[in-house]
Amino acid sequence: MDYLRRAAARTQAKAMLTVLQRDHPGAAQRLGDGALDELRQWPGLQVRDVPDDRSGGGCSVSGAYFAGTPAVLAVATSASLARREFTGLHELGHHLQQTVVELMDVLLAEPDGGAALEDAACDAFAADILLPDTLTDRHITAAGPTADAAVALWRVSNASRMAACVKASERLPAPGHILLLDRDGILAFSASHGLPPLRRGSDQSQVPVLRTALSGQGHAEGRGRLAYRDGAVAGEELYLQTAAMDGYVLAVAVTDLAPWRTFAPSVRYNGPVAASYTCAHCGEDFTSFARACARCESAPCPDCDRCGCDRKVFERQCTACFVVHPAAMFDGASSRCRDCD
Ligand SMILES: [Zn+2]
Ligand SMILES: [Zn+2]
Ligand SMILES: [Zn+2]
Ligand SMILES: [Zn+2]
Repeated sequence: MDYLRRAAARTQAKAMLTVLQRDHPGAAQRLGDGALDELRQWPGLQVRDVPDDRSGGGCSVSGAYFAGTPAVLAVATSASLARREFTGLHELGHHLQQTVVELMDVLLAEPDGGAALEDAACDAFAADILLPDTLTDRHITAAGPTADAAVALWRVSNASRMAACVKASERLPAPGHILLLDRDGILAFSASHGLPPLRRGSDQSQVPVLRTALSGQGHAEGRGRLAYRDGAVAGEELYLQTAAMDGYVLAVAVTDLAPWRTFAPSVRYNGPVAASYTCAHCGEDFTSFARACARCESAPCPDCDRCGCDRKVFERQCTACFVVHPAAMFDGASSRCRDCD
């Protein structure tokens, strides 16, 4: 199983841009010039400033989307303007995917109901609006992004660090991540490709290569395993390279084909290791060799067969026409779909 299929996220992001152009002609340009100012003009949408809360949402950014009338795009106030613009566009991505039927259909066809794809497509959509491919091509070579190249791309643009991370991740030559760490080694953002995404707010400061980067001038190179569950370093060993990014550290992590090395064979993977979990639903303690859920980082419980996620309701049956519709076809908790109401 691959976790975040980059091609699928990019295809969905392109479909979102097409829908945007169809339903809001010229909006992509205006959103690129000032996303939050533009979105505040949209009828049926409300942009709300909220305090930063690392724990919230399940999004890769400090923001959240609340479906409804009006739909609410929540954006953390503490962040820089560039970062808030990226967050606003990310949440707009959720709005499009949860209200436009052709975009929802793509998510519903996913084995996990589309949760991972939806969030990755939001990031790709936001980065596409903020950072054109032509600019990216000038900074990232065919070999893929080095940490310095990703930082250089950010410097020449007006886009946020996150947008630069997403664009760089789209050019990774092998499964990996582009990570953005704050001074303490806390993960501010990650754009992942082909590997389970790392949790925003997780502490990566104990990974030796990253610790070297954080305590020095930001530059470091080597191999290491990233922190998946709180504090526990896990996952396969990756090639790592870092660069300073004005108060942050950007890290490129790949399984192989590291763009800064002439020869980077796959780091040997020593096979699966059983991990221990406590089931979030039935409280059962268990160990499992099964792959953990990309979203909640728990393997399925052998007792109740569920991971830690609360199942997101994507569709329900209308009591009037008996058709199973996507959730957005219902007003709030209404049991009758919009066609029947
Ligand atoms: Zn999100
Ligand atoms: Zn259970
Ligand atoms: Zn889960
Ligand atoms: Zn109906």
